[in-house]
Amino acid sequence: MRQPIVAGNWKMYGSTPRVEQFAAALNAADVAADVQLLVFPPVAYLHGFATGLGVSDIELGAQDLHVDQEGAFTGEVSGTMIAELGGRWALTGHSERRRYQGESDALVASKFLAALDAGLTPILCVGETLAERDAGDAAAVVTRQLDAVLESAGIERLGLGVVAYEPVWAIGTGQTATPEQAQEMHRIIRDRVRAASDEKSREIAASLRIVYGGSVKPDNAAELFRQGDIDGALVGGASLEADSFLRIAAAASDAT
Ligand code: PEP
Repeated sequence: MRQPIVAGNWKMYGSTPRVEQFAAALNAADVAADVQLLVFPPVAYLHGFATGLGVSDIELGAQDLHVDQEGAFTGEVSGTMIAELGGRWALTGHSERRRYQGESDALVASKFLAALDAGLTPILCVGETLAERDAGDAAAVVTRQLDAVLESAGIERLGLGVVAYEPVWAIGTGQTATPEQAQEMHRIIRDRVRAASDEKSREIAASLRIVYGGSVKPDNAAELFRQGDIDGALVGGASLEADSFLRIAAAASDAT
């Protein structure tokens, strides 16, 4: 039994009043204990969130990290700094970073390892663009992105993280993958992990949590969560309001 995750990626949105309002709403809510709730605010708000939330079963993370733990890298933030601010998790390879910062599969794999080295749990984001899907390359692209981490981190370290399947064409567009499309890609990811080596990889594939991201909303979450290989969601827009975030969490709880 894999515990579902509902993770909120705030992207570059937020303000101190918004963090306070969100934290107050979460503190007042009856949060489903069987779902792991995560919030990824902009790193500037991480400490405020960590001190404002005061709810031990909601964990925080950063949307990115540098591969080194310290150094002359102006503007960057390391995994150890994120951990010191109260973060326990880190997104790696979000499509907006791949696209706007030109992050390669190799760099994403290094960031995945850097997160683990800093004691954070990485979420590896993978997903194809619309052109890649239309060309029939969705599975090949996602497999390539996954293999980069499998090859450099190895199956056991991959298994310490979480994978998020986020088709680029569904992020922030309101166009969700159908439950069948999402399930098919999640199954491909799990099969790839299972086939990576030996007996150990079968165990890791069975326990690996693979969450879906791409325009998940309270009204489409339940159907996605009913799919056998979908273990929760990485939510952008709908995570900014506590109410919709909690409704998605409730849908994950109902599906367990
Ligand atoms: C995301 O930012 O990872 C995401 C899935 O965004 P949205 O839910 O807004 O599509």
